[in-house]
Amino acid sequence: MPTVKQPATTSRAVIDLDALAHNARVLAEVAGTPWMAVVKADAYGHGIAPVSLTCLAAGATWLGVAQLAEALHLRDLLDQAGIARPEPGPDAVPTPRAPRLLSWLAPVLTPQAAAAPGSPLRRALEADLDMSASTLDQLEAVVAACAAHVAVGGVPGRLHLKADTGMSRAGAVAEDLPALAEAARAAERTGVLDVVGLWSHLSRADEPDSGSTEEHLARFARAEAVVTGAGLTPRLRHLAATGGLLWHPDTRLDLVRAGIGLYGLSPDPAVATSAELGLTPVMRLEAPLTLTKRVPAGTAVSYGGTWAAPTERWLGLVPLGYADGVPRHAAGAGPVAVGTLRTTIVGKVCMDQFVIDLGPAVDDDGRPLPCPARAGDTAVLWGAPDATGTVPTADDWAAVCGTIGYEIVTRLGPHVPRVTTSQEEQ
Ligand SMILES: *Cc1c(COP(=O)(O)O)cnc(C)c1O
Repeated sequence: MPTVKQPATTSRAVIDLDALAHNARVLAEVAGTPWMAVVKADAYGHGIAPVSLTCLAAGATWLGVAQLAEALHLRDLLDQAGIARPEPGPDAVPTPRAPRLLSWLAPVLTPQAAAAPGSPLRRALEADLDMSASTLDQLEAVVAACAAHVAVGGVPGRLHLKADTGMSRAGAVAEDLPALAEAARAAERTGVLDVVGLWSHLSRADEPDSGSTEEHLARFARAEAVVTGAGLTPRLRHLAATGGLLWHPDTRLDLVRAGIGLYGLSPDPAVATSAELGLTPVMRLEAPLTLTKRVPAGTAVSYGGTWAAPTERWLGLVPLGYADGVPRHAAGAGPVAVGTLRTTIVGKVCMDQFVIDLGPAVDDDGRPLPCPARAGDTAVLWGAPDATGTVPTADDWAAVCGTIGYEIVTRLGPHVPRVTTSQEEQ
């Protein structure tokens, strides 16, 4: 593995596993509950294998992803890493050495297709994944797969029923939940599955005073009454992601699902920045300047010539572009650090490159100024604040692009090398 102490010779994302472990400890301490590391979307672009293993080492007893295919991939990774499967059954408590995996987006399957050998849901059961259902159709598919799995000697499946408590995304609305709960209880009686969880997701946890989360909680309580009334005993009630975990203690329930905070970003910097939360950004995206050049005043830069040098100028070229996940919306604004210099993109972002302003090439009296950087110097797009005080955060990028830090890190192109670092390895 290349050491990150050497300057970047190509574009790379350095993933600081110590920062990840630190963030995990901060969040676990606040939560005071068992916690799930949400590692969907390749761990928010950070790399699912090292992130998952680091979170387990930091005490996670659950790992969660959206896509079933990614959950199956994760199970393979864990098997290869010697991480045990959890004890079967509805009551066994997972541990960091034998964690549970939850996947909440399954392909749409008929019961027949779901029951077929090798179907995605059969594979989910063989991989000991916990599954979720929001609708009767989804439940029927899960039940069919579970029945087929148990018929060939498998253990009963583990299901989390999802209630819609105000997000209007997945989950059963109040009107539909009783039928779903009744059907789930009927399936449970046949011995093919256990309903182990009731869950939902908050839509406005980053608005501490909106009253929305209190409404979610009230709806969750009613959902719980419905499912227990149907004879189900879901022991795991979970509602909070990072925002709920941090800002709504009542939502922590039996398990929290932490995503963005683990990666050292705030769910909403307007409420509290990552620094204010004591979190350290885990990803540093950096690239070596491929060249510097001096251009005369008035020189137009990049496609469309949308920026022109206001004076005789030093420019730097950074080998990252929108194909790598650098948003085109960052044109003329994306912040970049080169050593102690903090500057921005000038002109448009190209597919694989963009240009930064390195400052005036002459002083006010027309005397030449040296270039403050040279080819090979490292340009940092986003990362954790360091001693120079110049490194932008992914949240800074989100602010200039009109988006959220989540999108900045998750859209980093899969071909940009991820290089992990931790004190132990150095
Ligand atoms: C992404 C996601 C999370 C994690 O959210 P963060 O805000 O990143 O902590 C938790 N639960 C569900 C259902 C999600 O989709």
